[in-house]
Amino acid sequence: MHLRLGAAELAFRDEVRDFLATHLSDAMRAGQACTTSMYPEPDVCIPWQRALQRKGWLVPLWPTEWGGTGWSGLQRFIFETECALAGAPLVHPMGVRLAGPVIIRFGTEAQKRHYLPRIMSSEDYWCQGFSEPGAGSDLAALALRARPDGDHYILDGTKIWTTHAHHANRMFALVRTSSEGKPQQGISFLLIDMHLPGITVRPIRTIGGDHDVNEVHFDNVRVPRSDLVGTENGGWECAKYLLEFERGAGIFSPRLRSQFKRVAEAVRQSQRQLKSRFGEVAADLDTFEWLELKTLCNLAPGVNPGSVSSILKLEASRLKQTIAELGAMAHGVLGLRWRGEATDSGSSPATLLPEYFNSRAYTIFGGAQEIQLGIIARGILRA
Ligand SMILES: Cc1cc2nc3c(=O)[nH]c(=O)nc-3n(C[C@H](O)[C@H](O)[C@H](O)COP(=O)(O)OP(=O)(O)OC[C@H]3O[C@@H](n4cnc5c(N)ncnc54)[C@H](O)[C@@H]3O)c2cc1C
Repeated sequence: MHLRLGAAELAFRDEVRDFLATHLSDAMRAGQACTTSMYPEPDVCIPWQRALQRKGWLVPLWPTEWGGTGWSGLQRFIFETECALAGAPLVHPMGVRLAGPVIIRFGTEAQKRHYLPRIMSSEDYWCQGFSEPGAGSDLAALALRARPDGDHYILDGTKIWTTHAHHANRMFALVRTSSEGKPQQGISFLLIDMHLPGITVRPIRTIGGDHDVNEVHFDNVRVPRSDLVGTENGGWECAKYLLEFERGAGIFSPRLRSQFKRVAEAVRQSQRQLKSRFGEVAADLDTFEWLELKTLCNLAPGVNPGSVSSILKLEASRLKQTIAELGAMAHGVLGLRWRGEATDSGSSPATLLPEYFNSRAYTIFGGAQEIQLGIIARGILRA
């Protein structure tokens, strides 16, 4: 896709380039380049987040009164494109893109004043406690019990697939506070200190060999009632709002474009006949870029994306998988002989094969693709 930028956008792009040239270190770049799973480790992303925060650029999605940049959709797109081109680490989304917007929309004044600055300074590192062993696609079936006891809730149960719970000092979670009425009506949204007694985090290894996800067990954990967001039994509203940000408020195409460039190198070096497949994926990527840019340009800062987020999530995750498949095909069976850690930034099996295995999860987390298709179909049928 070729964008013709006006003078103001060109000046903004140059400002971003200058900033990247002076603040993005080789160590940060190398850390992102070796990341083959969803998110870089905290020692890679936090130094970068702190550099962005000092510049006032960490939370472009937030309203300006809470530290947002007030950028237009096109400026956000330019910013993300330059970051992807330069190989900057991904910002960990759990605080900035998920907890932050929910606290701004539903939190008390005290919660905003306490938590928002700690997200911006990266003092708090968040994880998401939604899924449970018996509640994934059917999220409203969640059973982790929160019993009121004076000024506290007492929590018992299990969360699963919790990304980076082993790094996080904070979790935002959906808990069951009532079994009356429809399942959605008995759910509350809680902020939880991960160091409380009774919380145990157990690792789950994924097919790509990484440790990203965990089981988190709660055994008689006492959480202050002041950490309830919104109303008791009103957590489903917060969850729906948050999921729109999870699925549709990221900007995916610049990172997909840079993944595609690395794969193109592997395809070029390969003896295999992949040109027509490569052309199809290139066309799909162009189409997705336009769709994302159009959506962004219609979105005011601080506003939730709405149900279009399911279309973006579906297409971005399919593309991620298709590009990763192309990379694996370029290496063919020889790639399977690769063993060991990813240590390069290029197009070798050391990076592309773990990326391929890990990309299987993209059509599952954040809501499986069948669930997104259902939301899209219902949205169209209702229109
Ligand atoms: C790598 C990874 C990271 C994750 N990180 C987190 C995290 O940080 N926090 C968190 O809370 N969760 C996380 N998850 C969990 C994720 O949100 C769930 O895995 C997802 O919602 C699917 O739930 P499930 O695994 O229980 O599968 P199920 O809900 O059992 O689904 C199994 C299959 O059945 C299909 N299916 C289910 N219901 C329907 C239906 N009504 N119509 C059609 N098809 C249907 C699904 O699409 C899927 O293909 C993560 C998952 C992965 C893989």
